[in-house]
Amino acid sequence: QCDAAASHKSVPLPGIPGTTFERTLVFVKPEGVHRGLVSNIMGRWERRGFTLVACKLVKPSYELVRQHYNYMSERPFYDGLCEHMSESGPVLAMVWQGRDVIKTSRLMIGATNPLTAAPGTVRGDLAVHVGRNVVHASDGVIGAATEIQLWFRDEEIAQMDSAKNPWLYD
Ligand code: ADP
Repeated sequence: QCDAAASHKSVPLPGIPGTTFERTLVFVKPEGVHRGLVSNIMGRWERRGFTLVACKLVKPSYELVRQHYNYMSERPFYDGLCEHMSESGPVLAMVWQGRDVIKTSRLMIGATNPLTAAPGTVRGDLAVHVGRNVVHASDGVIGAATEIQLWFRDEEIAQMDSAKNPWLYD
């Protein structure tokens, strides 16, 4: 398990079919920081049982944001999205660790458009417009590994397992 924790890859856990030990990138967007939603959003991952292994308040460069949202480069809102993310204020970037944290985080943030995001999700509880949907979480194993490397240096990520794990997993 420690080897798995030390890598950015999704590693199947021996003997526990269908579960994985993973890391994912979650960030609170500038509007979430300005609105004072940081502790509400962070607390959801903490209470759920995931482990915070990296966290920083940063103003990402325009280049970083363009790279992060590169897959959106043909969309009409791409330039505006990148300007908003790099110029509107800081972003709280985090790496969360735990079994199936990538998929679970996607479920926790809710649909991209808050109008269709289920109540109980971050966007379903805290947002009303797709252009200000307050949170990001990596989509998939490759995306998570790529995004963590884009936002964090290796030495910024704690190599730790959590003492609470025996109370979370059987
Ligand atoms: P998600 O953030 O749920 O992974 P996408 O990867 O599809 O969703 O989109 C990335 C981000 O681009 C969204 O979180 C949102 O900030 C922005 N975005 C997506 N669609 C729109 C849209 N129609 N208008 C404005 N911004 C959008």
